[in-house]
Amino acid sequence: REAGAPLLRVTGAVKRFSGLTALDGVDLALAAGEVLGLIGPNGSGKTTLVNCVSGALRIDQGEIRLDGRDITRASRASRAKSGVARTFQNLKLFGELSVRENVLVGLNASSGATSLKDVEGLLRSLRLEEVAREVVSNLSYGTQRRVEIARALAGNPRVLLLDEPAAGLNDGETAELRELIDEIRSERGCGVLVIDHDMNLVLGISDRVQVLDEGTVIYEGEPQGAFKQQRVVTAYLGA
Ligand code: ADP
Repeated sequence: REAGAPLLRVTGAVKRFSGLTALDGVDLALAAGEVLGLIGPNGSGKTTLVNCVSGALRIDQGEIRLDGRDITRASRASRAKSGVARTFQNLKLFGELSVRENVLVGLNASSGATSLKDVEGLLRSLRLEEVAREVVSNLSYGTQRRVEIARALAGNPRVLLLDEPAAGLNDGETAELRELIDEIRSERGCGVLVIDHDMNLVLGISDRVQVLDEGTVIYEGEPQGAFKQQRVVTAYLGA
């Protein structure tokens, strides 16, 4: 990776769904150890952008680079192997498997994966060691969210995409999530992209935010500056 080059760079991403342009020339850069918040009203293209980065969807125009390498046309599996991991808005866990088994599933995703031994360390750092043998569907929603993050981290990702990680969490769990994201950034040096409806969380945790509106970036910069822009306020009011 060239000095100063971002870990992840999306340039001019366009994604169309039949008649609708969900992403209309989006640029995004994410550095190692950085938390970037992606916000914007419903339907502005946030999840589509995450799907295009993870490889669940292909962009129609533009380019995606990871460590300077062009991954625009790479499969989802190959992106996962090169270190792109994500969590889902609606948890995608194996409910009838144990916490440990769910995390082990994540080991296969990436070539840089954690060793079997490190899984215990990962479970500990996510405060999941006590419930490691329990079946996931018996656990609280907040704990299941942590399992999902543990599974994503098992592949030792360099880029972590968190799609609404605070959805369904209470205040205490959200505060824990915030600490967890901070640890992931500082101790693992991951670049983290966060989408969430909880503005306190996103504005509080992010080094930078990007605001999307109708598939276009209408603000990029300091979190605290976003809602000082009339354009951002207007987009949220739906005017
Ligand atoms: P957000 O995550 O910001 O709420 P989305 O990325 O989910 O926005 O959606 C952006 C736009 O693309 C919306 O108008 C949505 O209806 C549309 N869209 C998303 N996924 C699909 C799809 N698979 N097929 C058709 N339209 C879609």
